[in-house]
This record gives sequence, C-alpha cells and structure tokens, in this order.
Amino acid sequence: METQKIGGRTQLYGIFAHPIKHSLSPFLHNQSFLDNDIDARYLAFDVEPNEFDAAMKSIQALNIGGLNLSMPYKEKALSYMDELSPEAEFIGAINTILNRDDVLIGYNTDGIGFVRSLEAENIQLANQRVVLLGAGGASKAVAYQLCQNHVKEIIIFKRKNRTFQEVCNYFKGMSEKCHIPIRVFPYEDHLNLNHKIKNSDIIVNCTNIGMGHLEEAMPINDLSILEKNQVVVDLIYQPQETLFLKGAKKRGCHTINGLGILLYQAAEAFNIWTGSDMSVSNIEETVKRKLYKEGSTS
Ligand code: NAP
Repeated sequence: METQKIGGRTQLYGIFAHPIKHSLSPFLHNQSFLDNDIDARYLAFDVEPNEFDAAMKSIQALNIGGLNLSMPYKEKALSYMDELSPEAEFIGAINTILNRDDVLIGYNTDGIGFVRSLEAENIQLANQRVVLLGAGGASKAVAYQLCQNHVKEIIIFKRKNRTFQEVCNYFKGMSEKCHIPIRVFPYEDHLNLNHKIKNSDIIVNCTNIGMGHLEEAMPINDLSILEKNQVVVDLIYQPQETLFLKGAKKRGCHTINGLGILLYQAAEAFNIWTGSDMSVSNIEETVKRKLYKEGSTS
C-alpha cells in the first residue's frame, strides 16, 4: 500500500479489542484514508480487560477521532458514551465511536452492514419472512435493521437456557416499537424450527456454529427443508463457506457469507467519521486475498 506522510495534523483512529493482531480493519480504513486523500491513520489497539477503562479515557485526552470496538468491548463501552444513536440505544452495544469535539457518540453499524451486503446481492427485504438462528448481539443488530427495512416478520430461534425469557422480552419490546411481528422460539424444538424455516424467505445464521471449534457443526439438522428460492446467509466469513452455506448452495439456495457485512459495517463507520465513502467493491478482492490466503481475521 502507498502511504501518506504523517504530520502534526494527522488524525488518529483505531480499534479496541482483545485479541486483535490479525484484524483487517487497519487495512480497510488506512486504504480508504489514502483513496480519499484524508490525513489520518488507523491502528489496532490490543486492550487488556484491566486496561479498558484507561484506554477509553484516552480517547479525548489523545484526541482520537473515532474508534471501532470488537469483542469483548461492544457492551462495556456503552457507559462511556455521551450520546447514543437510535440503533445503538436499542441494541445495547456499540461497534463505532465518533469523537465530535470531545463528545463521544456510540453507533452500531453491524445491522446496516448486514442490510447493505444483502442489497449488494440484489436481495429485497421489504415484506420478506426472515428466520434468525441465535439471539446474541449480532442477531439484535440484524433484527433492528430488518425492521427498519420493513420485513414482514422475524422469527428467532434461541436455546431455552437462563437468558431465554429475557431475550423474549427484549424482542417483544423491539416488535412493539418497530411495529413488525417478532417471535422467539426454543432452538431445541426441531419440528417447529423446520416448519418455520420452510415458510421463510431468508434464513440467517447468527450463531457461532460453523466456525472455530464448531467448524464441523451446522445450525440446522435437516438441510433437505431448504428450497432453491430461499436466501441463506451466514454471518460467519471464516471459513469462507461454512458447512451450512455449502449444504444450502447444494440445495440451490442463494448463499451469502459474512464478508460483505464486515466490509459494509466498516464502510458505515468510515462514513460516520469522515463523511466520505469507502470503496467496498475496489477493496473486496484484496480483502479476500488477505483473509483466505494470508489468514487475517476481522
Ligand atoms: P453472541 O452475542 O455470543 O451470540 C451468539 C448466539 O449464538 C447466542 O444466541 C447463542 O445462544 C448462540 N449459540 C452459540 N452456540 C450455540 C449452539 N451450540 N447452539 C445454539 N445456539 C448457539 O455473538 P454475536 O456477536 O451475536 O456473533 C454471532 C456470530 O456472528 C459469530 O459467528 C460472529 O463471528 C458473527 N458476526 C459476524 C460479523 C461480520 O462482520 N460478519 C459481525 C458480528 C458478528 P444463547 O443465547 O443460547 O447463548
């Protein structure tokens, strides 16, 4: 990558996460600063949990222009914000901070990243029936943005553990506020799961099933229920194609992995900070090479 000179006016941006060493975010943002002729740099900060408070307090002290947050800080950072965007307030987690004259504003760009990645594949969302597998932070962000895009209904499957009722209440609140039907069902009820998936247009894996130690597992047991007119999305992008996506593709479904979400959530953050656009289509090929041949992670 070409570089611009660093000077007295160079604005600092970055990401706080732990661990972070293989992050793609520095590449995405530094390339985009260069493409847009913006005098700024983006660094990855591996912030240990016991240093998180000091790191957050350094944002104003060091005049950092903006930050991304990744695991495990998306929720922990909320209490440091002076203002929250509507989606961040609703989701209860932030992945982007704008430092506007020492006022810290928290945003969550995961949901908009999801929607933009589907739009890039010409998927229409209005009036569609969507099944979300899993009900964690990403699922909440996706559900919120699906509501803004006027889907017909959202059905969520979540394990019936100690957080089940709390999650049901959360999505009931979202449903009432957004005026879109959202229902949560136990993941363990396979009959109902299969029935609801059969009757849906878009199925999204928002669980970790398909990556890391769960790489050989699948979020649904019976792929034969999938039909070729359905869209199947996996938020996972490493591996490039999960077993779930491979199976869905064999069934003739339109499959989409999580790389577009990663790129478009970064593009949204870049726009919040700079008012300029990240050229996702230009950057995508390089990102694929780095991710799938050189082994970066996010
Ligand atoms: P999270 O908050 O930890 O939520 C994970 C969800 O998956 C929870 O609902 C959890 O169920 C469920 N789950 C985990 N293991 C399960 C299993 N064995 N069986 C059934 N359900 C299981 O994580 P997150 O931040 O939402 O992330 C979810 C996925 O999205 C991850 O794979 C992450 O890498 C991916 N992601 C991708 C992007 C991107 O840019 N492409 C962005 C964000 C997230 P319980 O609620 O029952 O515990």
